[in-house]
Amino acid sequence: MDKDIKNENVSEYIENQDYIANKYTMKCFMVTMLVFTAIFILNQLGIFIIREKIMWEAFFPSLLIYFLAYIVAKIVPLSNKKMKYFLMFCITLVFTISGVFLTYHVVLLSLFPFLYATLYSSKPMMRFVCILTVISTIIIVYGGYYFGLCDANMILLTTDVAKEYIADGHFILNEVNDNPYLSLMLFFVLPRCLIYIAFMAVCSSLFSIVSGSLEKARLAGELEKAKTEAENANRAKSRFLAKMSHEIRTPINAVLGMNEMIIRESNEEAIREYAYDVKNSSELLLNIVNEILDSSKIESGMMEIVPVNYKIGSLLNDLYNMINIKIQDKKLKLVFDIDPSIPSEYYGDDSRIRQVLLNLLTNAVKYTDKGTVTMEVRCSADNENAVLHYSVKDTGIGISEENIGKIYDEFQRFDLSRNRSVEGTGLGMNIVQQLLKLMGSKLHIKSEYGKGSEFYFDIEQKIVNAEPLGDFRKKFIQSAQKDNIRTEYFAPKAKVLVVDDNAINLKVFTRLIKKTRIQVYEAESGKECLELLRSQPVDMIFLDHMMPEMDGIETLHAIRDNKLCEGIPVIMLTANAIVGDREKYITEGFDDFLSKPIIPDELDKMILKHLPEELVITEGNIKK
Ligand code: ADP
Repeated sequence: MDKDIKNENVSEYIENQDYIANKYTMKCFMVTMLVFTAIFILNQLGIFIIREKIMWEAFFPSLLIYFLAYIVAKIVPLSNKKMKYFLMFCITLVFTISGVFLTYHVVLLSLFPFLYATLYSSKPMMRFVCILTVISTIIIVYGGYYFGLCDANMILLTTDVAKEYIADGHFILNEVNDNPYLSLMLFFVLPRCLIYIAFMAVCSSLFSIVSGSLEKARLAGELEKAKTEAENANRAKSRFLAKMSHEIRTPINAVLGMNEMIIRESNEEAIREYAYDVKNSSELLLNIVNEILDSSKIESGMMEIVPVNYKIGSLLNDLYNMINIKIQDKKLKLVFDIDPSIPSEYYGDDSRIRQVLLNLLTNAVKYTDKGTVTMEVRCSADNENAVLHYSVKDTGIGISEENIGKIYDEFQRFDLSRNRSVEGTGLGMNIVQQLLKLMGSKLHIKSEYGKGSEFYFDIEQKIVNAEPLGDFRKKFIQSAQKDNIRTEYFAPKAKVLVVDDNAINLKVFTRLIKKTRIQVYEAESGKECLELLRSQPVDMIFLDHMMPEMDGIETLHAIRDNKLCEGIPVIMLTANAIVGDREKYITEGFDDFLSKPIIPDELDKMILKHLPEELVITEGNIKK
């Protein structure tokens, strides 16, 4: 079976090469005809003078022979080997005869089949042509002489007339003139045959070069074609994923939002429990969509690292809060062992580092049934740069040695029988590794099957503020609660406009900030938004990206161009989470970016960040 496939490939390859060779042969014929014609014309004009009768007798028959050879090469099927050899036989014969009898430039004409064989076929074919030419030259020369069909050259060599032409060669001619066969051999056959053989050697190397470069060109062409096809397919896939992710994230937004209402407003414990289950599953679904999206972004080279100034304390704090919920669910112990002397502020892509660490921590929790998950951060720093050493350790199921090498492969999951109930796509580690690579780092794994694993990496970041972080536990750790309706602030005087073509999204948004008593205005299109702003100034605008007729970006430009609500913050609100979005929206003129599905806490933070302080009444420990 395998062999058949190989053979098929080989014959396909040969056909391909024959095809290319034939194409070049045709070109060669054409060029030869043109050069020959040009020489003929020059000769007739007296510019390129060849004294003898050559041209008229030689030109037309030769041209005819070239032309016939061209036609034959075009119509004879290349796959037929016998046919090819027969063709070469005829061509060689015709060229040798015409070479001997038609022109002084016999050598050039007779050599032509070699070139033909070189381009047209193979080395065996060249040897065949060479032997054939030598034999046919001998036969034709001696046969011609014997039957009295000699041309001018032969007459010259075999009669006394030659003496008049070659004075210096007197002594040789005297010797050989008595033996016309010998003189023909010495002056006619031998030089030609030697040239044939030499030319064959040249053609052989030419053949190797031509076929080698043809093959290279063919492979390069094929590679280029395959690359373009793959790139096109990949782009199509990315476009499809971007579109689908938007489509999928929009309804998840609605589910999560409405579900959040149930959690907030229902007083029945059972209902709240169901709602938590819905929340967990929706978040899981969202996570899968995000992983697929990230993976495709990385694959198509669209994943960008966007460095900003960030505080490591808040990065670790967020991670702690996020993972602690899962730790409590599984009754594990979480230890954040952070060196208090590490600098507190850096320049780098904190959101990607957070994503990497969250992935490692989530896995540690997922694949650990009892014991501890430990996150360790150490740092070695000079004045400007710091190398941060992150490590996530668990006392979980571990990974066997043979599987460690495969862990970065996409969709690779191990111990499926043991992990039947653990959800996952097998994309996470691949994404982690790729993200670290983009940031100039690499993930390392140590693991003992059945005992636990450690995942660690070093990452270099510029130091922005060298002040030591201090005791992380004391300073940062806040108790994360399962129920995260904890933002207590009111802004009854604040007016916020939200623009979205999806009515459920508008409803979700409004309900999510209901408790803050903010006055919410809704618009279902860019046009409606502009009309509303003309009559009703607001303090903050949330704009959806994808809307029919006028999208979010166009609407923002219209708001700015018409000087509506000058200076008020406009936030991009979108489910379209692909392609370095944040940067794109900020350069378009947005003040910030909030991705859908809306995480209630993020929405509260965003409002608190951008709403004028005097409009906000805070209670408790809310910080701006
Ligand atoms: P998944 O979505 O399945 O968790 P990942 O790419 O994150 O995919 O991980 C790939 C596989 O590596 C997992 O299915 C699991 O078998 C193994 N793995 C990852 N992290 C751990 C860990 N901390 N302990 C044990 N096995 C792990």
